[in-house]
Amino acid sequence: MSDAALAILKNTFGYSSFRGFQGEVVAEIAAGRDALVLMPTGGGKSLCYQVPALLRGGTAIVVSPLIALMEDQVNSLRQLGIRADSLHSAMTEQERDQVEWDLLQGNLDLLYVAPERLLTESMQRLLAHIRIALFAIDEAHCVSHWGHDFRPEYLLLSRLPGVFPEVPRIALTATADPRTRHEIVTRLELSSARVFIDSFNRPNIFYRISQKRQGKQQLLNFLDKEHADDSGIVYCLSRKKVEQTAQWLCQAGRKALPYHAGLAPDERRANQHRFISEEGVIIVATIAFGMGIDKPDVRFVAHLDLPRSIEAYYQETGRAGRDGLPATAWMVYGLQDIVLLKQLQARSVASTQMRQMERQKLDAMLALCEQTQCRRQSLLGYFAEQLAQPCGYCDLCLEPATVWDGTDAARKALSCIYRSRQSFGVSHLVDILLGKRNEKTRRFGHDRLSTFGIGKDLDQTVWRSVYRQLLARGYVNVNHQGALELNEKCRPLLKGLETIQLRRDRYEPSARYELEYREVGRVVVTGEDQVLWEKLRRLRRNLATEQDVPAYAIVNDKTLMELVKYRPRTQSELSRISGIGQHKLEIYGPALLQVLTDHVCESA
Ligand code: ADP
Ligand code: ZN
Repeated sequence: MSDAALAILKNTFGYSSFRGFQGEVVAEIAAGRDALVLMPTGGGKSLCYQVPALLRGGTAIVVSPLIALMEDQVNSLRQLGIRADSLHSAMTEQERDQVEWDLLQGNLDLLYVAPERLLTESMQRLLAHIRIALFAIDEAHCVSHWGHDFRPEYLLLSRLPGVFPEVPRIALTATADPRTRHEIVTRLELSSARVFIDSFNRPNIFYRISQKRQGKQQLLNFLDKEHADDSGIVYCLSRKKVEQTAQWLCQAGRKALPYHAGLAPDERRANQHRFISEEGVIIVATIAFGMGIDKPDVRFVAHLDLPRSIEAYYQETGRAGRDGLPATAWMVYGLQDIVLLKQLQARSVASTQMRQMERQKLDAMLALCEQTQCRRQSLLGYFAEQLAQPCGYCDLCLEPATVWDGTDAARKALSCIYRSRQSFGVSHLVDILLGKRNEKTRRFGHDRLSTFGIGKDLDQTVWRSVYRQLLARGYVNVNHQGALELNEKCRPLLKGLETIQLRRDRYEPSARYELEYREVGRVVVTGEDQVLWEKLRRLRRNLATEQDVPAYAIVNDKTLMELVKYRPRTQSELSRISGIGQHKLEIYGPALLQVLTDHVCESA
């Protein structure tokens, strides 16, 4: 690795070494060659083009799909003393003129632009007059039809190598699948680029999935116990549920804001802004929320409803813990979620091929939910990545699932579907098994069925669990009206040729689990450390408010943690803390050291 690159890393960014293949990417681009970088969220993609931008001289042009993302990056870079700006549609004419002037004067190290602007004639004229260090194409998966973030303007970027053959290009994305990768390479003319693929494991995210009983209450218990003041995201399927959940959390004393496509654009923007700039805000959102959120200190992502695919689950949970500190991906799901999603699929009018694909995706998601061994192994396995050992850092590794022989119960449950002619939903089926004489069982004559009352040995919760697992494992289908139907797979089980092991459900973690989790799973600052931590956070908040930037742009939590741990006393000690480069040392050093020395005096 060149000394010049390391010097920039240390002096400007305040980091002592490159992570993973960052150094190799930097060398590749610095030497004028192209690269494609696939790294998970939080992996450290930005440095891969920011360091060579400074190394090569001239201005690096960064293509980014969203204004929020551009502003976030520009804020952070300026905090490092790097000359960065952006050009986008939300700026006034004058602001744009100023940026263009700076660009022509050679006053910018990095310029962020939207793809559609980059290829306008006026922009091309400007670019012809400056020295371009490199082109970075961020969120490069936007060029692909396959994912859900397709942006037609990205297709224009294929013209770049023709117009600027001498300028190296680097494309970056956190989307892992081979199909998207292939599209990026072909559509962006990157076939000669070196490809860097990182592991998609997010080692700091703790995965946890339990059964839903009273979802909102379970959520609140989780937050109270583990994330009392943290900010995070709660995902729900419908707008109505988003509203209700946000309200409920507010009543419980949390700062929770709704976010969905039905809100007025102003309100949506305001809520997003508060989430990013204030501390401890919880955003309750439909899946419309996420792209364009680079907030590094999201400490949890909670799902109150089941995502439709592992891709969606991975992407949504991936928004937690970008800063590398411990974060939780928490989810509850239940029978109702499965019935609803399967019923929607049964009603779908999409092509057969499409429906089959959606069915497969949901089944894979359900398999992850009903897993009895390490979640991370199966999650990564889905993306064709092998993890040699169980991770030791997910709910199932800390507290293995227990199973019971459900063969007899499953047979009863299946024959009950058969006897009632495959036309009823779960509640009614359970009523029959439990022998409930109510209006509905009488009306259909189900109190005379041979299966009436044969399930009195188990209670309602267990029967619902049996049906859920039969559904999730594909023994039973749901029709468009929500009734359960048998399918081929259940035949051997019904005939007694096969047995089945079922999971015992878990709603709340056990005491033992909580003990173990406390050791490994959280950002914990306690006792006297916490006093200092709070003081530093207050200083950071004030500095951020003065400049109208998010608190994490001043210094992130990781840096604060190191300050608490190492307690630097001099500028030179401070400069060794991760994330403190020369610029931050100069502008924030004195204030940080003041808090640290005052604290020593006060606690002496
Ligand atoms: P991505 O864009 O891949 O999601 P970022 O570029 O935002 O990730 O980086 C995630 C976090 O990791 C940031 O806080 C960043 O400052 C930090 N980081 C990146 N590279 C390094 C490094 N070499 N050493 C220490 N921290 C790093
Ligand atoms: Zn595990």
